[in-house]
Amino acid sequence: MQNKGILYLIPTPIGNLKEVSPRILSTIDEVSCIFCEDTRNTQKLLNLLGKNKKTISCHEHNEKIMSSKVIELLENGENIAYMSDAGYPAISDPGSILVKECIKNDIKVTPLSGPNAFINALVGSNQDTSHFIFYGFLNSKSSERKKELESLKNYSFTIIFYEAPHRINDSLKDIYEIFGNRNITIARELTKLNEEFIYSTLENLVTNQREYKGELVLVIEGKINKNEPKLDHEFIKDKYDELLKSNFSSKDAINILSIIYKINKNSIKKIVY
Ligand code: SAM
Repeated sequence: MQNKGILYLIPTPIGNLKEVSPRILSTIDEVSCIFCEDTRNTQKLLNLLGKNKKTISCHEHNEKIMSSKVIELLENGENIAYMSDAGYPAISDPGSILVKECIKNDIKVTPLSGPNAFINALVGSNQDTSHFIFYGFLNSKSSERKKELESLKNYSFTIIFYEAPHRINDSLKDIYEIFGNRNITIARELTKLNEEFIYSTLENLVTNQREYKGELVLVIEGKINKNEPKLDHEFIKDKYDELLKSNFSSKDAINILSIIYKINKNSIKKIVY
């Protein structure tokens, strides 16, 4: 029986051609054709890279139909690549239907490493990178956008949005209205000549509106729990030890400290365990 082919998900530059890796170049050589979001854009990229490869259109409106063609070729043992216009396929871009169809048909999917806008934005944002939510684009309608923001406002994790320059000021207004004032970083034109990180607050950006040109990522601080006092770790540990000496169980001691000092139980556990 013929071996099945592999679907390679190939990330493409978000603005800087030098971010095409040797592995990406050799994979382009190895595949029999490239399915892509926009054949004109992919063709332009292939020309810049000096590569000659057949491209076939597979975008958000025909991905489901085209996936049967992709699966057919893969079943016949051909290796295929998928590329979106910029960054990773399947991240606010088409590609995830193809992946689902491949897995359903027991076909190997191999994503290559490469450029992506939100990771660059996050790591340069000066915000907490230990836990974060990538949301992608908010709805373009303000009423829908506000509903989405309501569902996100209580997360304490850094929140990342993609945004378009013609909509950003309206979105910032809605975000400020629902989230209140928080630190925000706008990452603009990443990897390009005019790359810029704007470190500010929602209040400041809404009060002093400006025009934002180019491609943008918003990185916003998670919910700040203003009621949670700054923890004095030694003090809490001493109180916990005193309660244990008075024959309270560990669980009860944590409950008591949580009630008396209005501290979340998990925060206490992190100190005493
Ligand atoms: N698939 C891409 C990825 O992996 O990042 C995202 C594609 S999405 C259709 C396009 C959005 O990504 C833009 O509207 C912008 O929010 C963000 N983006 C793409 N390139 C960027 C860049 N060079 N600088 C800042 N943001 C960028």
